[in-house]
Amino acid sequence: MIKYKLICKNCDLNFDSWFASSNEYERLKKKKLLNCHKCNSLKVEKTMMAPQLINSKSKTDKKIDLEKYNKVKKTLKDYQKFIKDNFKYVGDNFAYEARSIHYNSKKKSKGIYGSASRQDLKELKEEGIDAQVIPWVDEKEN
Ligand SMILES: [Zn+2]
Repeated sequence: MIKYKLICKNCDLNFDSWFASSNEYERLKKKKLLNCHKCNSLKVEKTMMAPQLINSKSKTDKKIDLEKYNKVKKTLKDYQKFIKDNFKYVGDNFAYEARSIHYNSKKKSKGIYGSASRQDLKELKEEGIDAQVIPWVDEKEN
């Protein structure tokens, strides 16, 4: 059995109808046995099911996106935890600290992390100082 949503082009009535198969629908339509429940017009058409399919698909996509997002967020948080445990936080002084480590090779330092502007990163790169940029998840955002 297959259920189709039908619409009457004459009076705009929407109704559901059951058919043994999609072929049966075609057969009945050809034989002009499909008519509107209200006005008996033969101008009865299957309505497109597509919008419904699109809706349910986008719902699934959203769910997958959220799962993906949470997974990425979890990875980032683990990454952040690793960085926090192993690197020194220098805040906005990142560019300054990075230079001081780079130019003072005797200075023993564990890695640093902090924030730097795009301009800072560009200048650091030109000076041969490699900085990794990672997306940072705000702690408060949970
Ligand atoms: Zn009708």
